[in-house]
Amino acid sequence: MIDLHCHLGGAVPSSVLWEILCDSGLQTEFRSFENLHQFLTVTSKDFHDLDDFLGRYFHVTELIQSSPHAASTAVYHAVAKAYRRAEIKGMEIRYNPLKRVHGGHHTLGAIIMATVQGMQRVSMHYHVNTGMIFSMGKELSHASNWTIVEAAVAFCSHGNLNGAHGVVGIDMAGPESTGVDTDDEWLEEASRMVEHARAAGLGITWHVGETDASGVDGMEKIMEVIKPDRIGHGIVLRKAEGKQRERLCAMLRERNVCLEICPSVNKVTKSIDSFDEIADLIRMVDQENIPFCLNTDNPYLIHTNLSAEYDLMRKTLGADAGLLDQGPGHAKRASFMSGVREGKPINPIR
Ligand SMILES: [Zn+2]
Repeated sequence: MIDLHCHLGGAVPSSVLWEILCDSGLQTEFRSFENLHQFLTVTSKDFHDLDDFLGRYFHVTELIQSSPHAASTAVYHAVAKAYRRAEIKGMEIRYNPLKRVHGGHHTLGAIIMATVQGMQRVSMHYHVNTGMIFSMGKELSHASNWTIVEAAVAFCSHGNLNGAHGVVGIDMAGPESTGVDTDDEWLEEASRMVEHARAAGLGITWHVGETDASGVDGMEKIMEVIKPDRIGHGIVLRKAEGKQRERLCAMLRERNVCLEICPSVNKVTKSIDSFDEIADLIRMVDQENIPFCLNTDNPYLIHTNLSAEYDLMRKTLGADAGLLDQGPGHAKRASFMSGVREGKPINPIR
């Protein structure tokens, strides 16, 4: 199984973050491991919605991950833990490198180089495929997002090195409530960034249709203007109706755009009321021949792993559980990691 949608900010265990914090000597409000652990122990009772979730935790985890050593250790342990918990064969981790320079104390180049090396080490040690996706931000300026895209292009995948693929794609993350997914002017500039990344051979994924804030209209607009290879979430598709539903499904199917579905986080952020909504979506995309796979999004923060996500949805789908068997195959075909798509075995040099 391959996890295509996992944020570094929500994937690193509190014990690892605590040790990084102590070693770095960074001054924070956390006085003990218990303090930090408790802060990072998250349930849906803690939030109102997705914006609340995004705003509350990531500034802390991103701050602790903000040095070359910290970023390298963080990516290493995020993948190693996923391997030990769910025996994943591959993982694409996404993060925003600009949010790890600690207010400009570190260079972007040093942070990125450190994460590339952390991924190379973990691929070598655990024989897993790894790739990195740089997330731009819906709340960031065009200039900041251009910086992220230029960095992705500069560090564009070095090919398959014992399963480590380096930087393989770009993403757009951040609050849907910014409204940028339906803002023509904003999207015009963003589409230039995307084309620049695509021309360099990077894969394109985009968070949209996770909540009604971007909605079905946002999802259709992103398909038309950005033309992503994959969509992060896209679960509002279940609410599409009439001609719009036909248009959207046809675009997704004809362009083979894989929906990266992350059930648990949608429940935690109250983007869905029950997992039955995800089960209905899976029945719908199966009927419509639209590729999909399950993913973890923020495995540490929301206490999940890839096997647990598949088990959860198998249980929810009941008699239709067999529909999930196609998930790993879709993930493999939609991966931005060439070694995964080609089914290349990992033979580490001994
Ligand atoms: Zn996400």
